[in-house]
Amino acid sequence: MHNDITVIGLGEMGSALAGALVGAGHRVTVWNRSRGKAAALTDRGATAAHDAAAAVAASPVVLVCVSDYAATRAILEAPGVGGQLAGRVLVQLSTGTPQDARELDELVRGLGAEYLDGAILAWPRQIGTPDAYVAVSGPEATFRRVEKLLLSVAGAATYAGPRVTGAAAQFAATLAYLAGHWIGFAHGARIYQAEGFGVEQFGRLLAGLGPILAADNVHMATVVAENRFTDPESTLRTAGHDIQGLVRQAAEAGIDDTFPAFAAAVFERAVAAGYGDEEHVAVIKTMR
Ligand code: NAP
Repeated sequence: MHNDITVIGLGEMGSALAGALVGAGHRVTVWNRSRGKAAALTDRGATAAHDAAAAVAASPVVLVCVSDYAATRAILEAPGVGGQLAGRVLVQLSTGTPQDARELDELVRGLGAEYLDGAILAWPRQIGTPDAYVAVSGPEATFRRVEKLLLSVAGAATYAGPRVTGAAAQFAATLAYLAGHWIGFAHGARIYQAEGFGVEQFGRLLAGLGPILAADNVHMATVVAENRFTDPESTLRTAGHDIQGLVRQAAEAGIDDTFPAFAAAVFERAVAAGYGDEEHVAVIKTMR
């Protein structure tokens, strides 16, 4: 008797995924390298496999969520595991690069299984809710076969296309965006603190700007896609000058200037390269 799905990896995210699948009524087999982590799930009705090979053998669909692709490979290449994979679908939800996805696709297909590569853009607390976004790429017919299972863990599970690198590319690009978002937020919060304002007000200010920021992302994407940088409402030079002001403000307020100094340098480089009269996003031209 096959279970519906096996979950390998019961860290913060893997446990959330397995918990959502159990909660949605699927028959779930779990396995984790450190055994203790399965207890909370077996208490709720999941079955703990005694080793990774048994976990793979238990279900037609195997979902892996461990630290990275090297950990996934270590599991699949352990004695007895790869041989169990033929005829099954492996869904990889660990974070990796597009190249990681290409290489694991080759390994898994070589073992006679179908492969889907996924990327989670959600916190564990969002898993199992409509807000959880998981992108999955690979053969569409394979995705459609497991779509219902994926929708149990992520209400916003989305097909990212037949190229196996699609989900990892989405994740990498979005993480790059978020890196700026996190560091920019922290620096802005230090400005609020240094000037004696409550950081909660800053959070609310940014939340209110959400629609404007969303529109700016669409605008920047259009400018880059259409190579149409020469009709700015505000120039790259002006933004660079304003960011220089942030470096000065950091010195005035006695706060760290790592982030504004980095951002100012990126804009200065673009101005020096001759793009000062173009759109802000023309900084991309110095990133090739
Ligand atoms: P975590 O809590 O640190 O769990 C890591 C998991 O990987 C554990 O189950 C660990 O097993 C397992 N593992 C690591 N190396 C292994 C190996 N060589 N062999 C077998 N198992 C191994 O991490 P997490 O937060 O669950 O993250 C898992 C993946 O989800 C990562 O790729 C992460 O980027 C992605 N993700 C996480 C979040 C998040 O908010 N947490 C959000 C989006 C994406 P042990 O228990 O035995 O150590």
